[in-house]
Amino acid sequence: MINTKHRIEFYPEKCVGCQQCYKACFVDVIRWDAEKKQPVFRYVEDCERCFFCEFMCKKDAIKVVPDYASEHLMQSFDGCR
Ligand code: SF4
Ligand code: SF4
Repeated sequence: MINTKHRIEFYPEKCVGCQQCYKACFVDVIRWDAEKKQPVFRYVEDCERCFFCEFMCKKDAIKVVPDYASEHLMQSFDGCR
């Protein structure tokens, strides 16, 4: 299991339900809540940190906050193989 504090911040009060973030995410971290008409974030540790969702959201309702510290640790670990 990857130990990461990687976060995706979501501001529901800004969201207008356009689904652009949901369509942009190619790793299924962003699912769609049809009832609330808002994105739902699952398995955030699988996020590829592409920032597509943040870029596509024209309402500034999403902010991707990578955990650079754990990425650095993983790179060091990879270098030891
Ligand atoms: S792109 Fe932004 S406004 Fe559109 S559904 Fe996603 S969070 Fe909401
Ligand atoms: S940063 Fe990329 S991979 Fe991560 S949730 Fe957003 S679109 Fe998906």
